[in-house]
Amino acid sequence: MKKLILFDIDGTILNFKHGIAKSLFADLISELFGKEVPDSAIPDFWGMTDLQILRIISQNIGVSYDETLKILPTIWSRIYISFEEHTTIENVKILPGVVELINDLHDNPDIQLGLITGNFFENAYLKLRAHNLDKFFPIGAFGSDSDDRNMLPPIAIKRANEFVGSQIFTSNNTLIIGDTPRDIDCAKAHNIAVLCVATGSMTFDELSLLNADFVLNDLSDTTNTLEIINRLIEN
Ligand SMILES: [Mg+2]
Repeated sequence: MKKLILFDIDGTILNFKHGIAKSLFADLISELFGKEVPDSAIPDFWGMTDLQILRIISQNIGVSYDETLKILPTIWSRIYISFEEHTTIENVKILPGVVELINDLHDNPDIQLGLITGNFFENAYLKLRAHNLDKFFPIGAFGSDSDDRNMLPPIAIKRANEFVGSQIFTSNNTLIIGDTPRDIDCAKAHNIAVLCVATGSMTFDELSLLNADFVLNDLSDTTNTLEIINRLIEN
């Protein structure tokens, strides 16, 4: 039976050097709208989609979200250029066990890999490309698809079905792997199983208090992680 495994990126596959993303967003918005963007206008990015981040910053500096959406292609291309400069092997740390796990899952003909990430499309692949991991994820749902992360799972499932050319994937044979309560919420909004990993913003104890189906400290024990993944999707 085919299974779809959707990976979050930041805090799950990799950690981008702390603080860079916030300053790149703030500097660009400030320049484009000619307004100062104080730290207090910038939300905590963890688990948020990039559209959600733009909406909140816009509102906080008195720019309407509609106005922001009008220049969205400019925003994405400018942010991409800024990120490209900072997306180096030194700034992008791959988390323990991730490469082994992704390789194993990719080699399994019963498994389709995909992304479910708050990053806008181009930035998602930019970050993965830093360590040649982009090739493993032919489809996904991104922070440029919706400002509401809960809208992303059906988009990813639809694209996975289009990719394989058959309506194989549903909520029942999909698993989301992420690191924040927002990953859990978007999975549970669609009755999708979710595995949480404490390599991002939250600790194992904090994540254990939430309603993830399973929580791991990290993904370093590939055999154990694969067993858990199998169990979570079959149940
Ligand atoms: Mg994350």
